[in-house]
Amino acid sequence: MKNYSSKRALVTGGAGFLGSHLCERLLSDGYEVLCVDNFYTGRRSNIAHLMNNPYFEVMRHDICFPLYVEVDEIYNLACPASPIHYQFDPVQTTKTSVHGSINMLGLAKRVKAKILQASTSEVYGDPKVHPQPETYWGNVNPIGLRSCYDEGKRCAETLFFDYHRQHRLRIKVARIFNTYGPRMYPNDGRVVSNFIMQALKGEDITVYGDGKQTRSFCFVDDLIDGLIKLMNSPDDFTGPVNLGNPDEFTILELAEKVLEGVRLLGDRSSGNLIPNNLKPNSLISKSKIIFAPLPPDDPAQRKPDITQAKNILKWKPTIKLEEGLIKTIEYFNAFHSR
Ligand code: NAD
Ligand code: UDP
Repeated sequence: MKNYSSKRALVTGGAGFLGSHLCERLLSDGYEVLCVDNFYTGRRSNIAHLMNNPYFEVMRHDICFPLYVEVDEIYNLACPASPIHYQFDPVQTTKTSVHGSINMLGLAKRVKAKILQASTSEVYGDPKVHPQPETYWGNVNPIGLRSCYDEGKRCAETLFFDYHRQHRLRIKVARIFNTYGPRMYPNDGRVVSNFIMQALKGEDITVYGDGKQTRSFCFVDDLIDGLIKLMNSPDDFTGPVNLGNPDEFTILELAEKVLEGVRLLGDRSSGNLIPNNLKPNSLISKSKIIFAPLPPDDPAQRKPDITQAKNILKWKPTIKLEEGLIKTIEYFNAFHSR
């Protein structure tokens, strides 16, 4: 049995993609973990393997409503993150970031907990400065389809810093750049999940626009490590701090890497090196790359400047895109063949 500390962590959005990995990591670090989720995009299957742990508790709750619990640390991750999910009910998205943050900050104030906000690279909007340092204020459309998410997260950052200044709350703000890995929702419309599912099903790979727009993709394990390091950093370090992988790829390059990854696993499986749960037949992708219209306000380029994270948190990503994609393809293949 693990040696559990008396530290209690609350993870809002704990049944989601990042939240479920964070709950798992905190439990293995000896925390008691309370996962709060309204299951808007989260899934019970993401946390099913944690349910028998006596130090893990799940509460169905919408953070837009007040919450009265006793905890030492709060990781505020609740918020749909993929464009199709956050645009489905944009008013609720803004409410989750704004009302939800007010409620979680109020909770932190009452119980004197340290609180971390999962902010986003979207606060930089379609950036005019490249790569993006934390000092850049961004270029955000306040009235577009992405605004409910971008402006909600920007307002949440404002609330965090005002609670810090006004009530001396111990805050941490992480600006998370595109993160991928197992437990992403296969139909969430994000580029990594879309491309992998399309390649596994032999469907065409839909590159939006000319595919020259760039993103930097961080594997989930690296990101979770960054969040934990940030929470454990000295109290006078609030961030905001960029967490992401600075290796930058065009979306077209990503499409090619996904196809390569699927092919590679297919070759390995025909050589009898069948990784966990892989079904070889689905790994001979018949997909070709096609082009579709670019969604409005789609940022042209994105790449984090992670100097602060390197210097202050002693953190940098360690997992290369090719390596992370293989792990993610294995997960999606098992999911898809069920
Ligand atoms: P996700 O959609 O998988 O997880 C979000 C979780 O929050 C889900 O479990 C959902 O049910 C829950 N939730 C949503 N609204 C809620 C509410 N009002 N009350 C309680 N629970 C609620 O997304 P994710 O990728 O795991 O993202 C987690 C956090 O990280 C989000 O805040 C997101 O903005 C941020 N982030 C993620 C990325 C990324 O690339 N994954 C990038 C930048 C920022
Ligand atoms: N994208 C794409 N094809 C898809 C899904 C997304 O070309 O099937 C593009 C999208 O237009 C954007 C990039 O991939 O330029 C990343 O999109 P995602 O929704 O994953 O995240 P974003 O960084 O835009 O929030």
